[in-house]
Amino acid sequence: MKNAKPKTKTGTAPAPGRRSARPRSAYTPDEIREIFRRFSIQRPEPKGELEHVNPFTLVVAVALSAQATDAGVNKATRALFAVADTPEKMLALGEDRVRDYIKTIGLFRNKAKNVIALSRKLVDEFGGEVPRSREELVTLPGVGRKTANVVLSMAFGQATMAVDTHIFRIANRICLAPGKTPDEVEAQLMRIVPDDYLYHAHHWLILHGRYVCKARKPDCERCVIADICKSPEKSCDIPAPLVELPPQAVAAAQ
Ligand code: SF4
Repeated sequence: MKNAKPKTKTGTAPAPGRRSARPRSAYTPDEIREIFRRFSIQRPEPKGELEHVNPFTLVVAVALSAQATDAGVNKATRALFAVADTPEKMLALGEDRVRDYIKTIGLFRNKAKNVIALSRKLVDEFGGEVPRSREELVTLPGVGRKTANVVLSMAFGQATMAVDTHIFRIANRICLAPGKTPDEVEAQLMRIVPDDYLYHAHHWLILHGRYVCKARKPDCERCVIADICKSPEKSCDIPAPLVELPPQAVAAAQ
């Protein structure tokens, strides 16, 4: 139909004559598409770094990763998941032994409690299966919205935007999706990222933040979107060569 008003992804159009009070992206739709096109060439199949063997171990790994590095979590969970890869086995192992396996991870006492409590809830209320909806996932002990989004994406293939510290920083630093809270950033990114790039977008942004647009000082000379970026912090206008990173280079960078 001609002259139809553009709709947002949630199917709602802004009321005529009204502007959102929230800060908007500094980029045009074409610029946003170009940013994600370049990320997609660099990393055609971006992957999360948390090791897991099924949806249950993914939930546990993501819950353990709060305020910890993925590498540190992987080191502890390799042995844990070898003996307990289902909620039933985790319950049989018991809190004390779970704590022993994860004692190298920050906040391990509380996290061990949560792992047992979430295993119990999965057995008692979900037949031992990880639920596939965000509403149900966030009822599990130790599972917040970000964890639920990671699980929905990595275990069940749903396009979500799990806003971690890297995504929150980039979204605000380069004015891609400015917001005061992770929820605000998530909502705006879900609205502006083109549908065909949405599934991988959170991994691209995390990897870009972890290895190029770093917290302390962005590495703009190595950035493939340096010419598009509108960050006041950027130190270079020339984009890095746009090439697919060989797997070993990705692994080394990680
Ligand atoms: S140019 Fe610099 S500030 Fe902008 S996205 Fe790249 S690394 Fe970040």
